[in-house]
Amino acid sequence: MTIRVEATADRQFRTNSYLVEDGETRDAVVIDANLEPELMIDLVRKRNANVRAILLTHTDVDHVGGLSALLDAFGPIPVAVHETERHVVTEGRPLRREFGAATHPIDNVENLVEGETFRAGALAFEVLHTPGHSPGGVTLKIGDNLFTGDALFAGSIGRSDFSNSNGKALLDGISAKLLSQPDELTVYSGHGPATTIGRERKTNPFLT
Ligand SMILES: [Zn+2]
Repeated sequence: MTIRVEATADRQFRTNSYLVEDGETRDAVVIDANLEPELMIDLVRKRNANVRAILLTHTDVDHVGGLSALLDAFGPIPVAVHETERHVVTEGRPLRREFGAATHPIDNVENLVEGETFRAGALAFEVLHTPGHSPGGVTLKIGDNLFTGDALFAGSIGRSDFSNSNGKALLDGISAKLLSQPDELTVYSGHGPATTIGRERKTNPFLT
């Protein structure tokens, strides 16, 4: 299986949405729905990718704001999220006390469960619960690729100063679930450039 990864980023928050595609079947998923969904819709059309699901690393407004537009474009495909943040997408309730509602209620919602595999067409993702930035933060692993959301960035880690954040849980999760991965794995973050586990283990000032 050849996994192809491409990112689009919105201009306001520089939040990444990823198109993850199996080179043979063209089966694909979108990871996170940033505030400029038209960039992802154009990319999917250009690739002629068959988007089977939308996976959410967490449900902050800048990661779910484009959901309705993506579903309008791709049809009623499932949206997958950790169950502790499920209400954000099923009921359109905001994740944070600090921000307003981010999305309309969505019907076709599936759970991302720690330690289980989430399948979308030919693609299979391992789900790692990496909370702390938010309660339902997950990292999605496929092949040599990790999609870490706002848990781990190149040279930084996620904010944990929100009312439902937990700085200790964030560091514990990064240590147990991410730094335990092989050095060569590529890290695709919720914001900013890609990195590797090895580089972050050696140089990330928040992890030393
Ligand atoms: Zn974010």
